[in-house]
Amino acid sequence: MSVSHHLTDETLQDYSVGSLSVAMETLVACHLTVCQHCRDRATLADQIGGEMFDQFEAAPMAQTPEQLLKQASLLSGSHAPKVTPQPKRSFKDVPRPLAQFLPAELDELDWRRIAPGIKQINLSEQHRRMGAFKLLHLAPGVVLSAHSHNDRELTYVVKGSYQDEIGRFKAGDIADLDGEVAHQPVVDTDEPCIALIASHSPVKYNGLFGKIMQPFVGI
Ligand SMILES: [Zn+2]
Repeated sequence: MSVSHHLTDETLQDYSVGSLSVAMETLVACHLTVCQHCRDRATLADQIGGEMFDQFEAAPMAQTPEQLLKQASLLSGSHAPKVTPQPKRSFKDVPRPLAQFLPAELDELDWRRIAPGIKQINLSEQHRRMGAFKLLHLAPGVVLSAHSHNDRELTYVVKGSYQDEIGRFKAGDIADLDGEVAHQPVVDTDEPCIALIASHSPVKYNGLFGKIMQPFVGI
């Protein structure tokens, strides 16, 4: 698998210190299963983080253990997955970090149609205002409404490909976008594109059609 789009340094650092949501952590882990380049950078981020931790270890704690525990429980509550992870599952074309959240093979899943040519599987039960953790199934030729984000959005391509203002994304690639980037993905082959998405806030649609569709589509 040749990978051409990678994780940013910032995301790898957040992954290294464990500050990402379960959803984003899953996408990062999926990309790391196919990308030696990012695996090497993740190892480096771990080493730098470890050295920084050693330096600051002796400093007095700013928070009590109770406060830290409370924070940890709040963090683990965000993007709480809908399904209990099943570590031993493996499915065709599905990286293992994602397989643990799926009940069946990709073509046997209970896809929900949300717009012409667009189906989805919601992997999180939280309200869309809190962001998304979902699998999208996009038919050939589908054009998503132009949109941007308030915050980081990760997209991991599981199967097929799409193209947008940033480039062409194929299976194994990850789009690691911050809130500034506006884009309009288009499925650019005869094969459906299956993409895993994680965000912390709802998308901002640029056009009226997208704004009208947003409550229904929820992406
Ligand atoms: Zn990479």
